Amino acid sequence: MLVVMKSSASVEMVDAVVKAVADMGLKAHPIPGANRTAIGITGNKAQVNDSQLRALAGVEDLVHVTAPYKLVGRDFHPQSSEVVIDDVVIGGKEIVLMGGPCSVEPLEITLEIAKAVKNAGGKVFRGGAFKPRTSPYSFQGLGEEGLKILAQVRQETGLKIITEAIDPENLKLVAEYTDIIQIGARNMQNFSLLKAAGKSDKAVMIKRGMSSTVDELLMAAEYVLAGGNERVILCERGVRTFAAHTRNTLDLSAIPYVKARSHLPIIADPSHGTGVREMVAALSRASIAVGADGLILETHIQPDKALSDAFQTITTEEFSSVAKESAEIAHIMGRKL
Ligand code: PEP
Ligand code: MN
Repeated sequence: MLVVMKSSASVEMVDAVVKAVADMGLKAHPIPGANRTAIGITGNKAQVNDSQLRALAGVEDLVHVTAPYKLVGRDFHPQSSEVVIDDVVIGGKEIVLMGGPCSVEPLEITLEIAKAVKNAGGKVFRGGAFKPRTSPYSFQGLGEEGLKILAQVRQETGLKIITEAIDPENLKLVAEYTDIIQIGARNMQNFSLLKAAGKSDKAVMIKRGMSSTVDELLMAAEYVLAGGNERVILCERGVRTFAAHTRNTLDLSAIPYVKARSHLPIIADPSHGTGVREMVAALSRASIAVGADGLILETHIQPDKALSDAFQTITTEEFSSVAKESAEIAHIMGRKL
């Protein structure tokens, strides 16, 4: 539920509502606005008995929010959120480009890819050090050594780092090295991992599960915000359908759907979203056109030699041309890259 205060309501009146909500055993989230304050209420299992709140001084209206997500929804938070990592702002006017190999590669190769990503206008470097692979026999990532390589990339290029954490214990280690913690598609509903991410002081990017609805993605994000971490980025990375010409179907409609309902930024991953390197550029352009706040792309100096996901990895030259094309689409959309 949302308590809408009168524009004339004083700070004391807002505080009195917050206290009354706490006395009911619920949690209040004051949302100051330009003209008035609203107070979101979470923690209720059923509809809140509103007569007591309605009677308090300064209360204008009570709105029952029917959407299951509250903290991530626009009812509680109408303005779009920006996730700020120093000079990199995700969810603002600028489209943010993230690129790098699927898995962290040995230092020399990783650094060379990172320099190309930076030269192309990339702001964030991606690479998994811990890889949740479908097969236990596939390469599982370089582990902490990979995190150290990523830290060196940041030091030498100034790029921000995004890398995946695969369980709550692992998240603590990953958070020591990274700027953005990635929660992968296979872990989107790993609730203990989401709760651990909620306690972290690092930004978090949650990838949509390959068989999850968009509302389930939003509910996963709700866990992180409910835990106290508001710096959440969503990622559409494709879902499994009957299509046989792609690995996944990048669900472009998820982006305007999320934009209408949630204030959180959403970026697109056309690499996993198609699984076919020839399709990555086209789906990148399309993602910007439907309103994505950024792209995350797998790129490598020698894609065929990539330690994982080679078939969907583009060359660094292609990455650079995707960046140029995306900048033109961004311009049409009134944004920049
Ligand atoms: C990745 O980003 O390399 C990855 C494993 O992605 P996803 O979780 O979307 O499959
Ligand atoms: Mn990958």
